Amino acid sequence: MNYNEPLLWEKGEGLTTGYSFPKESVPQTESNSRHLRDNFFLPSFSEPVVARHFTRLSTWNYGVDTDIYPLGSCTMKYNPKIHERIAQLKGFSDSHPLQDDNYSQGALEILYKTGEYLKEITGMDDVTLQPAAGAHGELVSMLMFKKYFKEREENRTTVLIPDSAHGTNPASATMCGFKVKVVPINSDGYLMPEVVEKYMDESVAGIMITNPGTLGLFEPYIKEICDIVHSKGGLVYGDGANLNPLLGQIKVGDCGIDAMHINLHKTFSTPHGGGGPGAGPVCVKKLLSDYLPSPGVKFNGTNYYMDYNNPKSIGRVHGFNGNFSVVLKACSFILSQGAEGLKKISEVAVLNANYVRVKLSEFYHIPYSADSMHEVLFTDKYQKKIGISTLDIAKGLIDRGIHPPTIYFPLVVSDAFLLEPTENESLKSLEHLIDIFIDIAKEAEYNSQKLKDAPTKSVINRVDETLAARHPVLKGEILGRD
Ligand SMILES: *Cc1c(COP(=O)(O)O)cnc(C)c1O
Repeated sequence: MNYNEPLLWEKGEGLTTGYSFPKESVPQTESNSRHLRDNFFLPSFSEPVVARHFTRLSTWNYGVDTDIYPLGSCTMKYNPKIHERIAQLKGFSDSHPLQDDNYSQGALEILYKTGEYLKEITGMDDVTLQPAAGAHGELVSMLMFKKYFKEREENRTTVLIPDSAHGTNPASATMCGFKVKVVPINSDGYLMPEVVEKYMDESVAGIMITNPGTLGLFEPYIKEICDIVHSKGGLVYGDGANLNPLLGQIKVGDCGIDAMHINLHKTFSTPHGGGGPGAGPVCVKKLLSDYLPSPGVKFNGTNYYMDYNNPKSIGRVHGFNGNFSVVLKACSFILSQGAEGLKKISEVAVLNANYVRVKLSEFYHIPYSADSMHEVLFTDKYQKKIGISTLDIAKGLIDRGIHPPTIYFPLVVSDAFLLEPTENESLKSLEHLIDIFIDIAKEAEYNSQKLKDAPTKSVINRVDETLAARHPVLKGEILGRD
C-alpha cells in the first residue's frame, strides 16, 4: 500500500492528457476545454495515472466492509449486497416519480408495504416515508406536535429532553420554536417518572425519549413516563434510531409512544455515513395521522395511489416520496429476514454487546451496572491514573487496524467510549476485538508512551486536533492565474 499519495495538484504531469476528443466538426471556441486549461491550473494526467491515484486512495477507506466498525449510537452494520442489486433493478431505477400512478403500481406497492411492515414492527397506526434522515424525522415530528397543539388552541412552548439524549433532539425541538428543558437522568442511568413529573405541566408540549437510551440501557419506566406526560395533555416522541435491539421484542406503540422515527440507514440495510442517502420514516399513533407529511401512499383495495387530500398535513418535507431506493432496500431486507429473522437480529445484537461488556469489565471501567442492550459504555477511569485517556485508547485501535468506537459521547458521562458490535459479528470477530482492547489496556500499563504516540501506522499520525480545526490547511483549490 502506498501511503505517500500526493494530491493530483501536486503531481501535475504537464501537458499529458487522458482523453482524445473526436475531430471537431465545428470551429474551436474560447469556451472549450483548452480555454479552461489555459486559464486555470488544472493538472493533466494520462488515464492510468488517474485510475491508480483514486484506486490507491480508496484503499485508505475504512468501512463496514473492511472490518468491525463498533461505533456506538450509530449501528454501523453490514449491508447485504443483494439489496443494492435489487435497488438497481431496471424496473425500479428507470421509473420516474412523475409517472402516472397507474404505471407505478409496483413502486407504490413497495412504499405502501414497507410502511405497513414498519407499522407492524413498531405497533403504530400510521407512517410517512418522506423524511430523509433521523434528525429530519425528529423535525417532522416536532412540526406535527406544534400543529396538533395549534389546532387545539393550546399554547405549549416547551419540550422535555433527558440530558443523555442525542444532540439532534434538542436541535430539532429548537428549530420548531420550542424551548428545551433538560431533564436529568439518575445515577443508574435511568429517566425516572418522579423527575419527569416535576417538570411536566400544561406548558409542556411533550418529551423526546430515546429507548434504549444513549447509555445502551433500556428505560424501564417508559410506560409510567408516557402516562405522566399524557395525563397533562402532552405527547411522547420516541427517538427510534436505536431500534436494532428492539426488533421483534417489543412494540414501542404499546409503551405509549405517540411518534417515532426509524433510521433505515442504521437498522434496515442502507450504508450509513459517507454522505449517501438515508431515510427516517416516522410512525405515529392515530391522533397524529392527520398531520403527517403529504402526499402519502394509500391502497383502495385494487390500486395503490398517492393521496394528496390531507388538509391538516404539515405539508411536504421531501421531493416526491422520499429516498425511494433506501425504502426499497429496507423492504427487501425486512422480507429477506422475515419476522423470525428480525427477532434474531435483536437477540444477537444484545448478546454481542453484553459479551464484550463482560469480557472487558476487568480491564475498563463500566459506569452503569445494568445489563446492556445493543451497545456498551466504558470510560477511561482505570487508565486515567496512568495518564492514558479515551482518546489514546481510540488512537491505539487505529494502529491495530480497527475503527475506534464513539468517544466522549454521551456527554453526561465523562471520558466515555461507546461500543456497538451489532449482530453481524461472529464470536471469532468479537474475540478479536476483545483481544485488541485487552492488548491496549496492557500497553497502557507497560508502554504508555507508545499509546500516547499512536497512531503511527496510519496515513496521518496523531494530529493536534484543535489546531487542525482552527487553522485548516486546504490544498488543491482551483486557483485562477493572476
Ligand atoms: C443517529 C441518531 C440520530 C440521528 O440520525 P441521522 O440520520 O444521523 O440524522 C438521532 N438519534 C439517535 C439516538 C441516533 O443514534
